[in-house]
Amino acid sequence: MYRTNTCGELCAANVNQEVVLCGWVQKVRKIGGVIFVDLRDRYGITQLVFSQLVNANVCNKAIELGREWVIQIEGKVVERSNKNSGMPTGDIEIIVSKLNVLNPSEVPPFTIEEDTDGGDDLRMKYRYLDLRRTLIRSNLELRHQMIFAIRSYLNKHNFLEIETPVLISSTPEGARDFIVPSRTNQGEFYALPQSPQLFKQLLMVAGLDRYFQIVKCFRDEDLRADRQPEFTQIDCEMSFVEQEDILRIFERLTKYLFKTIKEIDLPDFVRLSYADAMRFYGSDKPDIRFGMQLVEIKDITIGKGFAVFDESEYIGAIRVEGCASYTRKQIDELTDFVKRPQIGARGLIYVRCNSDGSLKSSIDKFYSVDDLRKWRDRIGAKQGDLILILCGKTKETQKQLSELRLEIGSRLGLRDKNQFKCLWVIDFPLLEYDNESNRFFSKHHPFTSPKQEDIALLETNPEIVRANAYDMVINGTEIGGGSIRIHSCELQEKIFTILGFSEERARSQFGFLMNAFKYGAPPHGGIAFGLDRFVAVFAGLNSIRDCIAFPKNNSGRDVMINAPSIISYGQLNELHLKIDT
Ligand code: ASP
Repeated sequence: MYRTNTCGELCAANVNQEVVLCGWVQKVRKIGGVIFVDLRDRYGITQLVFSQLVNANVCNKAIELGREWVIQIEGKVVERSNKNSGMPTGDIEIIVSKLNVLNPSEVPPFTIEEDTDGGDDLRMKYRYLDLRRTLIRSNLELRHQMIFAIRSYLNKHNFLEIETPVLISSTPEGARDFIVPSRTNQGEFYALPQSPQLFKQLLMVAGLDRYFQIVKCFRDEDLRADRQPEFTQIDCEMSFVEQEDILRIFERLTKYLFKTIKEIDLPDFVRLSYADAMRFYGSDKPDIRFGMQLVEIKDITIGKGFAVFDESEYIGAIRVEGCASYTRKQIDELTDFVKRPQIGARGLIYVRCNSDGSLKSSIDKFYSVDDLRKWRDRIGAKQGDLILILCGKTKETQKQLSELRLEIGSRLGLRDKNQFKCLWVIDFPLLEYDNESNRFFSKHHPFTSPKQEDIALLETNPEIVRANAYDMVINGTEIGGGSIRIHSCELQEKIFTILGFSEERARSQFGFLMNAFKYGAPPHGGIAFGLDRFVAVFAGLNSIRDCIAFPKNNSGRDVMINAPSIISYGQLNELHLKIDT
């Protein structure tokens, strides 16, 4: 038996017991004739005491111990004279009588403690050491608990967990595919799934009724804090359902997770149409932990000789409560923020609603106090508030205002990571027109059903057709999204045509699906949650990387195993591939 206990469980009740512990040496302190060692395992840290007076032999052996050595000790649990209430095992320590070095360690390249001196790259290179840190480990524990609860909930609701293949052909989710060359089929390639979308629909045609899978998906996209080239979805599909059924069952799943894991009772989720989300927040994933909604003011600002406004398609404002006293420097900072290339605004206009009732704007030259009062009243600003205004093309400006709103929300501490605000964004447009390629794209994916009442508009005004599609958003993060699917072969064909697929291409890429629809496809729909994002929101993390055991870096690299890497000439040959250099 390697151990009688873990390093996280001994307390005052165990005093006088003889125990055997195993773990890693986190810290060694020598004070006089005594050596204190913090021994760490997955469950916690226990203080060991090696004393010249009690056992000189063992104490002399302990002098050699270095950080991250793996040891086994035997000893007696005693009460500590100076207790550490910040530690679960802080009431006790172990007087060691036997020391067995199981494996020495080289000096680790960074400190393996809560606060580490290791930079990102170093930590990723030695991720197995990084994972010894409590912080990262507890994220993985949380991830496990969430997966466990999700499986239990879905199992209780009749969902079957079914695996779908990884070597497939393209599934259009709007990203680039990762491609795998086939050795046995010369010149042909598999694509890794961007999602199991088509398979889960086929499982519904197969009559399996309720499916789920906790599944890796692959998208070759530019990486961000909340994106990895491979990520995990909780992928679900149901038959004989309408949008309302799906929203209800997955809202309950989310409430169940918050209750079982965080002991939080969530109220019913807010529902916001896509149009309102854009109008009030400039975003289809609004953070509704705080107000500061966008207010359109074009009708009361144009026609006064201020060309910048007069030439704008959209003029919108936000009210920053209590910030009229922002200094020039603070306003300049916000101006610089909106002018950053990633945001792209041309400038920022402000109106201070001073506490003496006066109004002061950065464009006083063009507007009278009466004009400014009208704006103030529309925006609902009070004395002491600051009004910030952006203008330009509608979509772009709403997006810029959204970024500004989030930035100010963060600066003012309105985005508390311990507060959770969940909502559904519904009624997404079915299609989006791309001016560069002059064609429509699916806003969600091509299998999304239009709203029944909008189907006629497909012929005349496809751009205003709404979809039976929905996203779940928590604290400004899109946690999940899905739709009711098309289950008629004719409608699916029509959508492919609108999306610019030739009949031949649609048939060669998706013929199997359209064929399946001819053999009794039930009405169906589903949703997929981004598990990594879900865990990150629960853990209060800004990046999904720290809730993934072995993530990739910002250039899609695994620096620990050095992937991607070149392959041998022999391998290339076998795959009938040549690299152009
Ligand atoms: N397959 C979709 C996605 O990955 C989700 C769904 O429609 O169920 O976004």
